[in-house]
Amino acid sequence: MSIRVLPDVVAAQIAAGEVVERPASVVKELIENALDADASAITVEADGGGRRLVRVSDNGTGIPAAEAALAFARHATSKLQKVEDLDHIVTLGFRGEALASISAVSRTTLVSRHRDETTGVEVQVEGGEVRHERAAGAPTGTVITVENLFFNTPARLKFLKSESTERRHIMQLVTHYAMAYPDVRFRLVQEGREQFHSTGSGDLADVLVEVFGLDTFKEMLEVHPQPAPRPDVPLVEVYGFTSVPTLTRTSRSHIVLFVNGRAISDHSLAYAVTQAYQPLPRGHYPLAVLLVRLSPEDVDVNVHPTKAEVRFRVPDAVFAAVQRAVRRTIAGQAPAGTNTGGYGEATSPVGSGWGDPRDRDAGISGPPRQMVPGERQMRLELGTPGGVEAAPEPDVAAIPGGAGRPLRPRTLPILRVVGQVGATYIVAEGPVGVYLIDQHAAHERVLYDQLNERIVAGDAVERCSLRTMMVDLPPGLARLVEEAFDLLGAFGFDLELFGSNTFRVRAIPMALADQEPAEVLSQIAYTLDDSGDGDVLADRLIRLVAQMGAYKAGQVLTYDEMQGLIQRLERCDTPLADPDGAPTMLHISGEDLARQFGRG
Ligand code: ADP
Ligand code: MG
Repeated sequence: MSIRVLPDVVAAQIAAGEVVERPASVVKELIENALDADASAITVEADGGGRRLVRVSDNGTGIPAAEAALAFARHATSKLQKVEDLDHIVTLGFRGEALASISAVSRTTLVSRHRDETTGVEVQVEGGEVRHERAAGAPTGTVITVENLFFNTPARLKFLKSESTERRHIMQLVTHYAMAYPDVRFRLVQEGREQFHSTGSGDLADVLVEVFGLDTFKEMLEVHPQPAPRPDVPLVEVYGFTSVPTLTRTSRSHIVLFVNGRAISDHSLAYAVTQAYQPLPRGHYPLAVLLVRLSPEDVDVNVHPTKAEVRFRVPDAVFAAVQRAVRRTIAGQAPAGTNTGGYGEATSPVGSGWGDPRDRDAGISGPPRQMVPGERQMRLELGTPGGVEAAPEPDVAAIPGGAGRPLRPRTLPILRVVGQVGATYIVAEGPVGVYLIDQHAAHERVLYDQLNERIVAGDAVERCSLRTMMVDLPPGLARLVEEAFDLLGAFGFDLELFGSNTFRVRAIPMALADQEPAEVLSQIAYTLDDSGDGDVLADRLIRLVAQMGAYKAGQVLTYDEMQGLIQRLERCDTPLADPDGAPTMLHISGEDLARQFGRG
């Protein structure tokens, strides 16, 4: 084929593809334009997940009528004039590409009135061609309506995700901008329903309460800006909120970072935040919203068409400032006692006195280790107050293994329950000694295996029907749950959206029958986030349900409950570790006992 210059329309569509990836990209560009125009109130409307319609209205300066059509031309911008301006960009936009790109792949209508003019203007552009331009009455500010996005780019259309996924992206975007600009009043209406609004009070805390809900917000600590450590280091101001160490999420996506008012994705900075929390259990991440400010000369925002990546002149200084700010905050303000108790801890190795859990992989053996004084206190009373030692052996055939399922092969010797210690550990006796079993970790292993088997096989998970109950979620979480309806159905949930952020809950997984449905649903939503891959997501849900459904440390169990648990554990593939790899039991052989008592 001979070389030819592409027709304008094709070139425009290619360029548009870089800026407008999905409906949320349109929302992003339009919000940024409104913010650059000094708007104090911005309303975002979206229909059909933004495919059918996106409309952003602002009360900013407006566009002079004479310039309205020009705004749609490629590289037309009022924000940059000369090349040096690129070195200190103080506006969100500067490339002059957004309106050109958006209008190349949709029908875009702009209605605007500049604050110094008496009448407004309306311009409509479809597929990159101006359809009409006329005078129009309008209040000061700008309304841009984008319809039929990607109508002329079928390839892009084909790769769009479901409407609920797009709705979630739009939601996330609007809430992020609301956090970065607490003094701007944001409102998001999707499919005709208001899903989110911020007050524009100027207080980030107010926005976070709207986004995360009060319960989560209460567990966040305020990060205050600090002076630069040395005069030769560029000043990096870090303000925001970060979670107490006990409030964690299962993915990094809850670390939200803004640099000079721009939401950015920067793995290194997210890592700086996580690092400040060391040590966090594996797979746990903090929640943080941090507004980072530094001199525009110290950041290059002209890296990527979507402007989601930035480059720092002194990256180490930014990394260190973020890490220091977060570390100081959690060190100085962690509410007393947040690091003790809590059933989550029961799954981690019980202090060094118990040795390295990995030692026990090769056959349950090894000498018992002395408890280090001051380690978690444990009262070694054999038997619970009820004196259950005398209870009869239950019938092994009564193991609740699931109807019609072949019994799995035994992976542990037959154990006999002796009693419970500290309402946390089960003491059992086997052919070769004594076993101390962590009831939470062991139950978690059993539930995990059971659920995993069903989900992998596509079998129904046992559900527990509820008297219909309403659960409200913070707006972002509501979108995640809505998007995962099918997956949650497979787990035994029966849900229906009722209002914008309210769910009608009719059933939850049987393993969670004792839990508060509202708590279950919000924990589930936190686990969902956007980690794409369905299998990974399913596995995380299985872990969560197992963790939530498992007996807690401190929960008194009946003899039958203990024996039932152990009989199921005896047939798990890997009975010695919980799903996170923490040990479920400790074995003390008969020989060890004899030696300790001087009988050997
Ligand atoms: P950029 O934001 O990079 O300048 P855009 O294509 O997004 O490029 O917008 C082109 C121009 O249109 C902007 O420079 C600005 O002058 C004008 N404009 C766009 N949206 C608005 C708005 N909401 N309010 C005022 N002016 C706007
Ligand atoms: Mg712009």
